[in-house]
Amino acid sequence: MKKVIVVGAGLSGATVARLYAEDGADVLVMDRRATLGGNVHDYVDKNGITVQTYGPHIFHTNKRQVFDFLSRFTEWEKYEHKVLANLNGQLVPVPFNLTGLYQLFPKEKAKRINDLLVAQVGEGVKVPILSLKSHENAEIREFAQFVYDNIFYKYTKKQWGMPPEALGEQVMNRVPVYLSYEDRYFTDEFQYMPKNGFTALVEKMLCHPNITTKLCTDASKAIALKDGKIYLDGRAFDGTVIYTGRIDELFSYRFGALPYRSLKFKFITKNLTSYQPSAVVNYTTDKRFTRISEFTKFTCSPKNKTVIVKEFSRACGKKSEPYYPIPIEQNLAQYAKYKILANGYANLKLLGRLANYKYVNMDVAVEDAIALHDNNPLIVE
Ligand code: FAD
Ligand code: UDP
Repeated sequence: MKKVIVVGAGLSGATVARLYAEDGADVLVMDRRATLGGNVHDYVDKNGITVQTYGPHIFHTNKRQVFDFLSRFTEWEKYEHKVLANLNGQLVPVPFNLTGLYQLFPKEKAKRINDLLVAQVGEGVKVPILSLKSHENAEIREFAQFVYDNIFYKYTKKQWGMPPEALGEQVMNRVPVYLSYEDRYFTDEFQYMPKNGFTALVEKMLCHPNITTKLCTDASKAIALKDGKIYLDGRAFDGTVIYTGRIDELFSYRFGALPYRSLKFKFITKNLTSYQPSAVVNYTTDKRFTRISEFTKFTCSPKNKTVIVKEFSRACGKKSEPYYPIPIEQNLAQYAKYKILANGYANLKLLGRLANYKYVNMDVAVEDAIALHDNNPLIVE
């Protein structure tokens, strides 16, 4: 039987493990954590509330293939995510939209800006803040500067430790300005939460007779790379290793640690039916934390208690968890050096957010795993 080792039981690892297991391969999944699901891990607390261990995770996609694949392992609950920004106490929709424009500007001025935006940018369009900020029309630029100052600048500095311009369009374009009254955070065709949570979904993906899952198992202790060969527990391994951990760690940080942002989560249970008016409130002008998420707003939950989490962003040190790769040129160049090393191992495949140093949503993690499988067929004896 062809052997496959998958390092990491997150969504990327679970997807690829399942697909190769269904081909007839003998798949070993290892994760150093004691839990399944990587960063999408969740659990039901003592009050019956589903809490997400690594912050708010909402599934959304336009990729039917991904939705259909995951639907084999879960039923879904319809959920459309809404976010508000707290501007020194005043709540406006995020992405910033025409509702926010009329909330924050005097009526006549708001109407003039609205007309200008429709005439010069387009009606109903989504426009990146950095391009709106350099628009040729001075009044549009003034409006964009206001949105930039109140929605993007301080939040981005808190989250990334750098201003939007330094971070670049790839990240900033994730949250454009809506020139419409659309108030959903995502406009994708499929927006759902898994009925029994993400951990249950991943558990079901890994429940296959050809898959063995070992938790609390660190690949850096079990797997060694040397001169183009992979060793498992000291013996040459001629199967395929699919690695979803940090690429810099795999190569002992030879070119230095790749920079990440890490997060500290502060969970609080409240004796309230509701803490805030939307599932997530972003603090875009003040406070040390970036946002507060309220889990009881994501799914049906008991009504007498609620759980919130505050997120504090910080640079990732040796002992903290790497959450967000920082996709700026100098880091991508550092990553490329590691990638060249990895290319020297024919039976090593890199997958996922950490190994590919890529800021990806869940649907792209699953899509990339499906593509890796489809592009690397195993001939199973
Ligand atoms: P991970 O989930 O990080 O899994 C990697 C696994 O590998 C981990 O379990 C780790 O323990 C294990 N591992 C690493 N090294 C080793 C080793 N040496 N030995 C053994 N095991 C190892 N996406 C969305 O679509 N919607 C959202 O709302 C959303 N919200 C997010 C909010 C936050 C705060 C964050 C950080 C991300 C969010 N994402 C969201 C992105 C989502 O978390 C990722 O797309 C997804 O988790 C990627 O899965 P992965 O398997 O590639 O990585
Ligand atoms: N952003 C912001 N203000 C907001 C929301 C987002 O400045 O109110 C910026 C910020 O830099 C953030 C990025 O847009 O990191 C992407 O936001 P997204 O919601 O996609 O971040 P994630 O949910 O992945 O943390």
